[in-house]
Amino acid sequence: MTDLSKTVRLQLSSEARISALTPTEVLTSDDGTQKFIFHLEDDKAIESVLIPDEERLTLCLSTQVGCTLDCTFCLTGRMGLLRNLKAHEIVGQVLAVQRRLPPEIRLTNLVLMGMGEPLANADAVEEAVRRLTNQPWGVGLSPRRITLSTAGLASRLKRVSAMGVNLAISLNATTNEQRNRLMPAVSKAYPLLALMKACRAFPLKPHRRLTFEYVLLRGENDSEQDATRLVKLVRGMRCKVNLIPFNEFPGSPFRRPADGTVLRFQSIVTKSGIDAYIRKSKGRDILGACGQLGTLPESAPLIPIPQHCSTA
Ligand code: SAH
Repeated sequence: MTDLSKTVRLQLSSEARISALTPTEVLTSDDGTQKFIFHLEDDKAIESVLIPDEERLTLCLSTQVGCTLDCTFCLTGRMGLLRNLKAHEIVGQVLAVQRRLPPEIRLTNLVLMGMGEPLANADAVEEAVRRLTNQPWGVGLSPRRITLSTAGLASRLKRVSAMGVNLAISLNATTNEQRNRLMPAVSKAYPLLALMKACRAFPLKPHRRLTFEYVLLRGENDSEQDATRLVKLVRGMRCKVNLIPFNEFPGSPFRRPADGTVLRFQSIVTKSGIDAYIRKSKGRDILGACGQLGTLPESAPLIPIPQHCSTA
């Protein structure tokens, strides 16, 4: 950088360094989804998933190594938190994947839905979003094309609105009792009512809506009563519901509902006037779908299967 003075160059060379993430492994699914495994400088591994879908090319980013939370249906949740990612490690996933694509192909959307709970690492996520969205000096992506998904850290939703990105909330249950069982840590910190109150207070920009994600677990939260309660919880909000039939992983304690159950659930929600979509779970064959990211050490004890859970 000869346009900088020699003194500044000297100072930079002693204080700063330029590095990049390089995937150590790339797995490609039959459906075109790709999972990128990156090893960080301390050798910890994170994963990003590239999801081509019609005219969209979405990258799903990790925000933590492991996760602060302990949702029982999520593989990452079982790893515990190894550490938070730094802003450059979040941005680095985008740059590394974009660099591998042919120049005419650009990422169109980013989802902060990979490993980790983004709002448990809000400072780094905020800084990463700033770098990804800044026009003059950043990557220049529109915040409208970025979605942050949270398990429900209600008091931090304000930070999402300040970032200007879309908000998705992983609801996954319709009673406190059910949510305590499925998502113990976050549910104890923010009971359902507090979470829904914060969602209703979220300042939505014109033409935007909230997304409620709902993982469907066979015999756990997939009944008609659940669907009716879900409708009651979100009624009157500008929102849509994304239904995610459970993606199994080795040792997972839950099962995916039958297709008919998923369709019946969807139709109860849509009949009430709320848009509900069934998320196509892509990349399941490479453990690249929702809830399948991460690894457990060989010796890790599996969380025991809850008593009430059918494993048939
Ligand atoms: N911590 C954030 C983002 C990561 S999880 C959050 O909870 O929103 C991204 C989505 O995958 C969430 O909606 C979560 O509920 C869902 N999910 C987790 N495990 C899953 C699994 N095994 N099958 C299907 N969806 C799962």
